[in-house]
Amino acid sequence: MRVTWSGGELTFRLDPEDEITGKAADEHPVKLATNTCTISGVPADAHPDLYAVAAWTVVAPWTRRKITFDRAVSAEVAAALQDGWGVEAGPVGAEPRGAGGTLAISYSGGADSVAASAIYPDAPFVHFRRVPHARVPNRWPHYRSDVLAKLAKRTGRELTVVESDLEFTLAEPRPGYPEHHAVAAGALLLADRMDLGGLAFGYELGSRWLGGDRYLLRYTPDNPMWAPHGEWGRLFAAVGVHIVLPVGGVSEAVTMRLALNSDLKEHVRWCLRGTDGPCRTCGKCLYKELIQAAVERRPIDTPITADRPVARKWLQPPPFGGQEMIEYGLARVPGIEQSLFAKALDHFDASEESTSWLDHCYPPAIDEIPPRWRDEAAAFLTSNVGLMTEREIRRVETWGS
Ligand SMILES: [Zn+2]
Repeated sequence: MRVTWSGGELTFRLDPEDEITGKAADEHPVKLATNTCTISGVPADAHPDLYAVAAWTVVAPWTRRKITFDRAVSAEVAAALQDGWGVEAGPVGAEPRGAGGTLAISYSGGADSVAASAIYPDAPFVHFRRVPHARVPNRWPHYRSDVLAKLAKRTGRELTVVESDLEFTLAEPRPGYPEHHAVAAGALLLADRMDLGGLAFGYELGSRWLGGDRYLLRYTPDNPMWAPHGEWGRLFAAVGVHIVLPVGGVSEAVTMRLALNSDLKEHVRWCLRGTDGPCRTCGKCLYKELIQAAVERRPIDTPITADRPVARKWLQPPPFGGQEMIEYGLARVPGIEQSLFAKALDHFDASEESTSWLDHCYPPAIDEIPPRWRDEAAAFLTSNVGLMTEREIRRVETWGS
């Protein structure tokens, strides 16, 4: 792989051994659509390691053995690419970038990132906004990134919106981040200007510890994407931008509750399609409605009926993505046996007691937060959520076994 930056435009060329259909860290096959993308509003003089890691968030799935950058990177970044992916990176010759002092939040506007924002009320936001690609047709026009960017502006937080078409480098299954970390490509390029030492993401317990991203449904302390000692964690640390998961120890029920109790609650939006409000008809709206109904202890309120395609997956046997939250909802939503989730009751024996761990914080997730930002998160989570008991901790650590 050879990558070239021209301002905020990234161009990459595959080497003979590289593949058009690659594999992201979550094991999903991703097919290349085009070899250029643009990230706008970023400085022209970022540290070369920041350009390198921003590029890697886009090209990693298609790179096999070697990556050649258009400017020298530090030995630290080259080592992180070698150790993590077995990829030879060069040229090498830059001094490493020292870590800055600021923590920013990669803010999507969904419940998880709003909850992360509640933990760090003074942290600035970086919001990634998808824009069309000049040469790739948009086959998923429902995504209203304009609406989400507008909501982010209304939060009143210090905000940088990064506009990018990088999701269109991916042709299949549909436009999206080649790697989950590509959402941070703009924030990485802004790291010098913002003096970033950390970047907080809204990944919660399921994604970080329960194999949620990979649908493995297995306890995953060594999650390659989000563990500090995983390959991505080490690569971000090598450029002085530590990955921080403020809500990595709590479930989506907790992030929902924190988001709906937060100052930003008017601006929460997990639906990618709605304009004036959530669309209420997409799969995400249905899943989040189950969680919200469970948190609010009320029946499900949805126009979706069991014969609709978005309901189909709940009629099949598990495993489900976010399965722990399905169990949580089954145990807590009044009248669930009359809802379209009724069939799922056949497969689980969930009770309030068996799902109580999903109301508390898994302590090792706090220990993973870099020391500089740990105490603030620990204080917030201890007083607003509460830590898991030994028994609840065992539920996490035996998940899927
Ligand atoms: Zn929706």
